[in-house]
Amino acid sequence: MFDVFRSCKNRRKLIRCVIVDEAQFLTKQQVWQLTWIADLYDIPVICYGLRTNFMGKLFEGSEALLTYADTIEEIKTICRCGKKATMVLRMSGKKVVKDGAEVMIGGNESYVSVCRKHWKEAMDSTIGEYHDTKR
Ligand SMILES: [Zn+2]
Repeated sequence: MFDVFRSCKNRRKLIRCVIVDEAQFLTKQQVWQLTWIADLYDIPVICYGLRTNFMGKLFEGSEALLTYADTIEEIKTICRCGKKATMVLRMSGKKVVKDGAEVMIGGNESYVSVCRKHWKEAMDSTIGEYHDTKR
């Protein structure tokens, strides 16, 4: 990614900003390369993405962004109960998917944003019991 950027002639005139959507899917190395675009060329880099996957674990790209970003702004989503939605459920029809690959391409799954309490209920997490995401 950085090599492509570096090879662009007149990049400072041509590129005013780098915007990355679905940034949770970046690797740690790609996020690190984006920090060089910001630091070497003084070009703003703006990334949009989810914090955690449907199993409640940080995505690799999200973890790196949380580590290296200068600023983090949260775009608020609301759960069906009215509380702030901070978690994501993967749905297959009306069933909650509790494990599987982090990235599903071409599946029938959909994603629903929910608050932590409703995520726990959907994932069958018992009070006081840590939700082991590696089951
Ligand atoms: Zn809720």
